[in-house]
Amino acid sequence: MRILIAEDEARIAADLAEAVNSGGYVAEVSADGEDAWFRGGTENYSAIILDLGLPGIDGLTVLKRWRQEGVTTPVLVLTARGAWTDRVDGIDAGADDYLPKPFRMEELMARLRALLRRSTGRAEPSISVGPITLDPRNRQVTVGGIPATLTPLEFRLLNYLFHHRGRVVSQAELSENLYAHDNERDSNAIEALVGRLRRKLKADVIETRRGFGYIVPAAPA
Ligand code: CA
Repeated sequence: MRILIAEDEARIAADLAEAVNSGGYVAEVSADGEDAWFRGGTENYSAIILDLGLPGIDGLTVLKRWRQEGVTTPVLVLTARGAWTDRVDGIDAGADDYLPKPFRMEELMARLRALLRRSTGRAEPSISVGPITLDPRNRQVTVGGIPATLTPLEFRLLNYLFHHRGRVVSQAELSENLYAHDNERDSNAIEALVGRLRRKLKADVIETRRGFGYIVPAAPA
């Protein structure tokens, strides 16, 4: 899952990117409002962390524009401490959650996970498919209760497919959500990655749809 971080304070942006990346997602940073507005409106992100005090176009205007343009990506707004009116304005403008600065990274990550969970229509923090359970909180995957050791890329792949279960996901979409940079994206690599993951999980939960991509079938009703 790709997360856009719109934050102009380099130190905070770097800390956020590190937390997001080690949380099993792919972080992209934008340091000004105009760039953030453009990227948020043209690229597919699973969620956006938006600082309201951005240079260029301020965060609130960016958020309003996205919502007017029909961008439905979940947005977590970062506001200045004590600026409760900012929080009200942010929520009214279409933010899904907010966090005042300074914040604890653990709280931000918990809110991000909750946002991603709600946006894919789930209430429980962990996702189980057959014998496999994936818990985004500790990035742990178990097979029949036994922990599986996955690489960060393998985890990102499984996390993305589990969050979008019941839908065919193309190799291009996976690639986009697994790698931060275009030059790393390669569809052969995805095929190899899926192969390795299937061997590790020893359970065939990822189905191939030739020419279309991969799917983790939805739970039977
Ligand atoms: Ca700022």
